Amino acid sequence: MSREELLEYMRGRIGDKVLQAMSRVPREIFVPEEIRSRAYDDTPLPIGHGQTISAPHMVAIMCDILDLQKGMNILEIGGGSGYHAAIMGEIVGPDGHVYSVERVPELTSQARENLQLAGVLNVTLVEGDGSAGLPEHAPYDRISVAATAPAVPEPLKDQLKKGGKLVIPVGAGYQELLLVTRKNGFVVEEKMGVVFVPLIGEHGFKER
Ligand code: SAH
Repeated sequence: MSREELLEYMRGRIGDKVLQAMSRVPREIFVPEEIRSRAYDDTPLPIGHGQTISAPHMVAIMCDILDLQKGMNILEIGGGSGYHAAIMGEIVGPDGHVYSVERVPELTSQARENLQLAGVLNVTLVEGDGSAGLPEHAPYDRISVAATAPAVPEPLKDQLKKGGKLVIPVGAGYQELLLVTRKNGFVVEEKMGVVFVPLIGEHGFKER
C-alpha cells in the first residue's frame, strides 16, 4: 500500500485529526531500511530486539480513543521506533509535548534519530522502565501504553490528571485494550481484543 491508500482505507473509521497527522508523518523513516517498501502496509513490522512498530490502524485507534487535543502533556510507554509518539506530537502541536519511555537502549537512540530525521521537535525519548511512569513530568493529560501489562500499573494511574485518560492493553494470553478515565475514581472501559508485546518491568511482567 501507499500512504494515500492506507489513509483512504482508514477514512470513515478514524477521526480526521488523526488521519491528518498520519498524512504528515512519514512512517518509512521509522522502519528499518530493508523493509521500507512495506512502510504503509497495515501491519506491525519488526524493528529489532524482538520488538515491533505497531500496525497503523492500532496507532490510529489508540490516538482516537484518547481524544488528544492541542497543548496536551502526554506520556507514552514503549517508544519503540518513535512513530506512535510522532503522531501524538503532531496532534498536540507545538504547545503540547510527548514524553516517551523505552526500555531498550538501542531502540531509544534509534527512535531519537528517527524523530530528528522526521523533524519532530516536541517528543522527548527517555530510556528506562516505563511501568513506573515518568514522575518528573507528571501529571499527564493522556497516557498511551504500547505493551501489554498484567494489570493497570498503579504509578500510571497516580500520574494522570483529573479528567485524564489512559489507554493500555492488559492480559497475558488474551489481551484487552482498556480505556481508563480519572474522574473522582477511575472508570474502566473495555475497547477491543488486541495483540501487543509484553510490558517488562517493576509494574509489568517479570523478565524471563
Ligand atoms: N509505539 C511503538 C511500538 C512499540 S512496541 C512504535 O510506534 O514503534 C512496544 C515497546 O515497548 C517495545 O519497544 C519494548 O521494548 C517496550 N517496552 C516493554 N516494556 C517496557 C517498559 N517497562 N518500559 C518502557 N518500554 C517498554
